[in-house]
Amino acid sequence: MNIEPIGIIHSCFKEKFGIPRQPGLVDAAEATLQLLPPYNRAEAVRGLEGFSHVWLIFGFHATAEQGWRPTVRPPRLGGNARVGVFASRSTFRPNPLGLSVVRLTGIDCSGGVVLKLAGVDLLDQTPIFDIKPYLPYADALPNAEGGFAPENPESAVIVSFSATAERQLASLATERPRLRQLICELLAYDPRPAYRGDNDASRDYGVKLHDLDVRWRMSGDRAEVTALVPSGA
Ligand code: SAH
Repeated sequence: MNIEPIGIIHSCFKEKFGIPRQPGLVDAAEATLQLLPPYNRAEAVRGLEGFSHVWLIFGFHATAEQGWRPTVRPPRLGGNARVGVFASRSTFRPNPLGLSVVRLTGIDCSGGVVLKLAGVDLLDQTPIFDIKPYLPYADALPNAEGGFAPENPESAVIVSFSATAERQLASLATERPRLRQLICELLAYDPRPAYRGDNDASRDYGVKLHDLDVRWRMSGDRAEVTALVPSGA
């Protein structure tokens, strides 16, 4: 079977670091999905507007060349214990395919077809292989058991902004109305790797969101956003 992308993601996430570990955790994480020819025709998405969420099957294109491992260390287990690749949502799989359910906020068929999405866990330029509507009657399983990840991950980091960062947020408010929420929700989950050494605590961290390098500093369970630096500056 040969599969080709039917679309491409334009996401706020410009690098792997900082991307939420699953969809839906950070609703302010927005993306557009641009369908590619010959699939970019309105009739191919007719009826999709009635669904609040869609499943996306996509390629882990940024890590695909690194191959797969039979066991992985999920962040959920502190990065120490190993589970099988097929018991995990690891990106390093025999076929590097990802599966995410994301919120569909709009469809624009004015020039090609563009789906507007929220709550994504997708890197910019991710190739999309298929789109399917989320069917609550079949896909929502209230009695399902979640193995070693039974609950939402902890989001315990308290986020604040320096005066400089506040000023920068204010000047970007019209262009990026959900930027503050995006940064707060992302940092609350503490994107640092689970197996970091303790001496990393006082380091500066940065994550690329949209066209900004968002800088922050950790102190205990507090994150202070120090600056939003335009990328390439
Ligand atoms: N919901 C998906 C993805 C889970 S792994 C699934 O279960 O299959 C989520 C991680 O995938 C993110 O933290 C991000 O680092 C990584 N990721 C997202 N898009 C990627 C891409 N195009 N290539 C490689 N890694 C990607």
